[in-house]
Amino acid sequence: MILGALEAGGTKMVCAVGDEQGNIMDRCSIPTETPELTMPKLIGYFKQFPIEAIGIGTFGPADVKPKSDTYGFITTTPKLAWKNYNIMGVLQSELSIPAGFDTDVNAAALGEATFGCMQNIDTGIYITIGTGVGVGIFVNRKLLHGMLHPEGGHILLERGTNDSYKGCCPYHTNCLEGLASGPALEGRYGKKAIELKDMPDVWELEAEYIAKALVNYILILSPERIVLGGGVMHQEQLFPLIRKKTAEFLNGYVDTKQLHDLGSYIVPPSLNDNQGILGCIKLALDALHN
Ligand code: ADP
Ligand code: ZN
Repeated sequence: MILGALEAGGTKMVCAVGDEQGNIMDRCSIPTETPELTMPKLIGYFKQFPIEAIGIGTFGPADVKPKSDTYGFITTTPKLAWKNYNIMGVLQSELSIPAGFDTDVNAAALGEATFGCMQNIDTGIYITIGTGVGVGIFVNRKLLHGMLHPEGGHILLERGTNDSYKGCCPYHTNCLEGLASGPALEGRYGKKAIELKDMPDVWELEAEYIAKALVNYILILSPERIVLGGGVMHQEQLFPLIRKKTAEFLNGYVDTKQLHDLGSYIVPPSLNDNQGILGCIKLALDALHN
């Protein structure tokens, strides 16, 4: 069976075809310009293959609720050309196949839950720390949507003691994304995040913010595993720092076997940065079966 996958991002659209076992057979990347320019290229790509369904994981905010009138739309996004754009509907009608639709981070969580390190887990989260911060959540093996979808990158955090950086989120002065995304690192220190590698204080503060956020997710959702991905998490020295600070902030209040083994509780992605695309393959498969 051949399935299509589209990871719709603010700068690029990653397209792929694969099978239900998670084998990727072909992929390409198309720049995200306007729908008028970009959609024909996406459609042209997918029409080359006999795909039976397509799964879309998108930047947002987006309408991921199947019963809604605007299901499949990118909605109030700051990328104005895509505002209120029916991306799923256009692909579905041009390709005449069933489509599945969710946020990019829910797709990545689903990829890890289906093919990766969260296969044997009922409740888990996938966090990306990159240009933005997003949190994909599944609870009892179902992706969480609620009234819209979680926007866990914008939870409010207590500031680090000496951090006077104003934050880079236009909506909040002290949310996780505003304080700890790649652009926040660049705004605070005036250098590309990758060039900050040898500055230990940078990663201490970064780990402090991420750990504060994890404590909130742990206390509210009780995830059995937490996967941390995205460009900033390529700084591998963050993992031990985040684990240590998460334990410190929890201060023994929650005591589980997972929290005694933080090395396998707070982990990097397991799918070679294919977690998003593979989640889209699973969205396609589920759309076909429904
Ligand atoms: P996006 O979020 O746009 O999909 P990424 O997850 O790659 O893409 O995130 C890009 C952000 O991550 C940029 O702000 C960049 O500075 C930062 N970044 C990318 N690679 C690294 C790295 N190796 N170390 C630290 N920061 C990085
Ligand atoms: Zn914010």
